[in-house]
Amino acid sequence: MNRLDETHFKRVEKCPWCGGNEKRILYKNQYDACIQECNHCKLVYSDKILNEQGLEIYWNSYLSQVQNKDTLLTQKRMEMYDIEFQFISRLIDLKDKEVLDIGCGSGAFLGFFEDAGANCYGVEYGDEASKEAEKRFKIWKGEFPKIEIEGKFDLIIFRGSLQYCINPKQYLKKAMELLNKDGILFITSSPNAQSLCFKLFKENFTLPVSVTDYYGFSEPLITDYIKMLGGRLLCYHYFYEETPYADMEEDIMTVAKAIEYFRKNLKIDFKAPAFYDNMLTLVYQKS
Ligand SMILES: [Zn+2]
Repeated sequence: MNRLDETHFKRVEKCPWCGGNEKRILYKNQYDACIQECNHCKLVYSDKILNEQGLEIYWNSYLSQVQNKDTLLTQKRMEMYDIEFQFISRLIDLKDKEVLDIGCGSGAFLGFFEDAGANCYGVEYGDEASKEAEKRFKIWKGEFPKIEIEGKFDLIIFRGSLQYCINPKQYLKKAMELLNKDGILFITSSPNAQSLCFKLFKENFTLPVSVTDYYGFSEPLITDYIKMLGGRLLCYHYFYEETPYADMEEDIMTVAKAIEYFRKNLKIDFKAPAFYDNMLTLVYQKS
């Protein structure tokens, strides 16, 4: 964040999901952004986001500056990849399937699919990350909706990436177009804006909506749109107990403390724990 200044941002006027004007401010953050919920579609979004230049600066060195900065977190993320991979591999036989990961980062998650015998491809915006991923996979660099991609896929993945896509609907639409019939769209590790913890903790949520994490989605919001695109919800899940981030007793105590603060109208000034419906995992099938 310290590489960014005011010239690297732009303001958002209307709801980027439905175009609505009416909204409710949930909180303001330290970067002078209003995080708001659209009254019409319930998308939670930041009214201040990175502009073209800001995007480039932020994402080009994301891998070293943000993602791999903390070794313990990186290790836990690898465990999480495995959990999410096991989950999706029970729904699709991956052998010889065509798999595309949108926002694939360094390709670490894709690696699990390659090991299972799938043919793997990625799309990545960041410079460092795409160079790393290219060592193992065919990578298209840039913004997914603007890239011409030949061929179709059996599985398209957005892992922890949909909240960073400036035009998320365009991304989802293109993904649905690129799927084979009966192909699977797998959206996972995206913050759930309708979760108890997001509502309570706001800017202290695990992954709060912010000037770089623009959106908070929910299952019904995405499901309604995918239905319009000819897909159906196959299943959804909120990973928590099985994750390396869970410490159930402690987490419940922290949430209870937050509820107490909320009832007393006190500002919740401590961080949200991992909890039951914090993160979305959604699986859709193209009809
Ligand atoms: Zn809206």
